[in-house]
Formats: sequence, structure tokens, C-alpha cells
Amino acid sequence: MMTTTSYQTYSTLEAAELRIRQAGEWLNLEDGLIETIVAPRRILEVAIPFRRDDGTRDQLTGWRVHHNTTRGPAKGGIRYHSEVTRDEVVALAIGMSLKTAIMNLPLGGAKGGVAFDPKKYSLGEIERITRRYISEIAPFLGPDRDVPAPDVGTNAQVMAWVLDQYSTGVGHVVPGVVTGKPIELGGSLGRESATGRGVVEIAELTMHKMGKSLEGQRIVIQGYGQVGSWAARLAVTRGAIIVGLADVGGTIHHGGGIDLTRIDTALRSGATSVTETGIGEVVARGISGSRALFGLDADIAMPCALEGAVHDLEALSMKVKLVVEGANGPLTPAADEILADRGIAIIPDVLANAGGVTCSYLEQCQNFAHLTWDEDQVNARVTDLMRAAFNRFYAFAETSSLPFRLATSVLGVKTIADAHRMRGLHP
Ligand code: GLU
Repeated sequence: MMTTTSYQTYSTLEAAELRIRQAGEWLNLEDGLIETIVAPRRILEVAIPFRRDDGTRDQLTGWRVHHNTTRGPAKGGIRYHSEVTRDEVVALAIGMSLKTAIMNLPLGGAKGGVAFDPKKYSLGEIERITRRYISEIAPFLGPDRDVPAPDVGTNAQVMAWVLDQYSTGVGHVVPGVVTGKPIELGGSLGRESATGRGVVEIAELTMHKMGKSLEGQRIVIQGYGQVGSWAARLAVTRGAIIVGLADVGGTIHHGGGIDLTRIDTALRSGATSVTETGIGEVVARGISGSRALFGLDADIAMPCALEGAVHDLEALSMKVKLVVEGANGPLTPAADEILADRGIAIIPDVLANAGGVTCSYLEQCQNFAHLTWDEDQVNARVTDLMRAAFNRFYAFAETSSLPFRLATSVLGVKTIADAHRMRGLHP
């Protein structure tokens, strides 16, 4: 029986930094360059005072982090979640620097967050929080400086307020300052599905390398939000079977395949979780119950919820052959090691979920050129860029014989290190 005692535990930030350092060691980077790559360029912490609907004054804390800006403007989402901390935002910004580098996008890495649960606030309160947060971090923002986007707890409406608040400040509308906007304000078709589309494309490409396809593969998905729900729908269009779904309410299972149309209808009609839809067998309830998903019999697992969702125990009980990380950092480093020891392939977040930022980049391209592409064009470009990045990654993983996690980190860190070296050190 395998035990977990030999696996070290790391915080989310330590885990993110470790990935950069391991890549730096493998690359044998000269001249202390790795410290420049690990350290964020700048971190801004802001107080966000705002008025509650009942007229009382309240205050939240927010952050915006520019991790790396050597290859282009900082790029990354804004997260609204009660567990957001400064360290988490830094860790997520590190992930964005790797993601844009691996995808070869001319962008750096950033992240923002405000520590609150948007479900507990009215729309008006969320608008006031967003406007004050953006006005506090405005000196960090701009199409050539830092371009936010949606992340957990934010959506196109929040991005519309970001656009309006920033534009009001500078005196004219600046569509390129934010991505994931509503279509009416210069958003891109295809942005909603882009992350899930990328996850499914990468899963399919990996299956091809294993001599298979997605057709007939049994998939379990944790998280049925913007990433997980699209990954599920698009996987089904390729003949895969969704045998398990999990969200904050717990886990459901149906070996014959969960009917997603019925799930979507039930959720639209007010069901608060997949476990409240009456579809499939409820395996476990509650947030901790969502981890039961990983013990289900399946071929592929797609953790598409939050970081640190898969711990040692889940890693030990997983029956799948492949894990595709739709969320950012869903595996703890210990779970990562256990899966590697068990020979289970992992496609890391920095490649697997990069479809979102890739579509954000295409949104900016359209904004800067004052044109709009139709949805098929956008989807085809996202898919092409994901394929190109996958092929680069896979060729490198094969020639270097590195595990997939380290291979992606090395590719990302090398791209960033090359840019630093070519630009030189100021002054
Ligand atoms: N929040 C998304 C991510 O983690 C998208 C970021 C973006 O589009 O800039 O990749």
C-alpha cells in the first residue's frame, strides 16, 4: 500500500515558484537570472471602500500583480473569491507568464483578485466594488501595460465595468484595455468557450499520441462553470462520454453518460448544483464531496475548478490514464508526484487551459485592427495556436525525456529567459 508520508507539502505560491526554479535548474540558467524570473515585477495591494445596499460603508482588499512583462504587456484575469490572498494572486500571475510564453503570445503574465464571495453581494454592490478596485489599480492598467480578463467569480459584465471605469478615467473608450468583454463592447466571439475548447483539443491531441482518440473515452469533470461546462459539451461532440460531474454541491455519476442538455436546463431553471438536478446518482455532497469524483472509474479526469483540488488521497485513488488540468494549479505538488509515480499522464494547466488567454489575445488583435472575426474564424485560430503549442511541447518532452510538467515549465522559462537575455539588464 502506497503511503503519502514522503511527499512534501507546499503552499500555492511555493508550488508555483518551485516549478520555475526546477526549470531554471534544468536549463542551468546563468548569472542569477532565475531570481529575476521568479520575482514579480510589481505587486499592488489596494483598499476598496464601498457602499453596501443598506447604506453602510464596507471595505475589501484587492491586489494586482505584474509577474513578468519582458515579452509584452502583463496579461491575466481578475478573480473574485473569498479565499483570494496576495500569495495566491502572485502564484496565478506566475502561471500566466508561463502560459503566454508557452503559447508564444507577445504578452507577459499578471493576475488580480479581490477577497470576497460575489455570491453574497448584489449586482449593484459588485459593480461598485469593481469600479473602485479598477480606479485604485488604474495606474497599472492599459493596452500596452496590463490587460485584465475574467477569472473565477468574474464575467463579461464585470469586464464591461472594467472597460467603462478605465475609459471614463482617460476620457475616451479603450476597448483593448480588457478582454472577455461583451461582444457589444468589442469582445470576441468564441471567448466563452475558448478555455474549454483548448482543454478538449489538448486532450484529443494527447490521446492521438497514445494511439487513441476521444471517441468513447469516459471523462470525469470537476467544476461545471465556464471551463468545465464547455469542456464537457465539446468533449461530447467528439464522441466522449461524461460519466461524472462535480461542483460545490458534490459529485454525480452515470456510467452510461450524463445528459448535459438536461443538466443545463435544470441549472437554468434554478438548480444550485449538479447534485440538485435529479440527474445521475449522487455519489457525495458538499464541497469536499466534489473530490469523490476522482475515485470514479473513468479514462480521463479534467479538474476544472480551483487550485489544490486534488490531494494525495485523490491521486492515490484515481483510476484514469490521463489528467488534463482545466483549472489553474488543481493538483498539489504531492498529488502531482503520486500521479507521476503511478504512470498517469498529466497535461499541465499552463498548456491545457491556455485557450482562454489565447482567445483574449485574438480579442486584442481584433480591437487593435478595428475588425471582427466570425466565430468559426476565432475558434479555428484558437485551435491552430493550441495545436502548434502542443506540437512544440510534445516534441520537446520526447527529445528531453522530461515529465510533462517539467517540460512545459522548461519551455516557458526558456522563452522568458531568452527574452531577458536579449533585452539585457537595465541600467
Ligand atoms: N483567467 C484566465 C486564465 O487563467 C484567462 C486570462 C486572460 O484571458 O487574460 O488563463
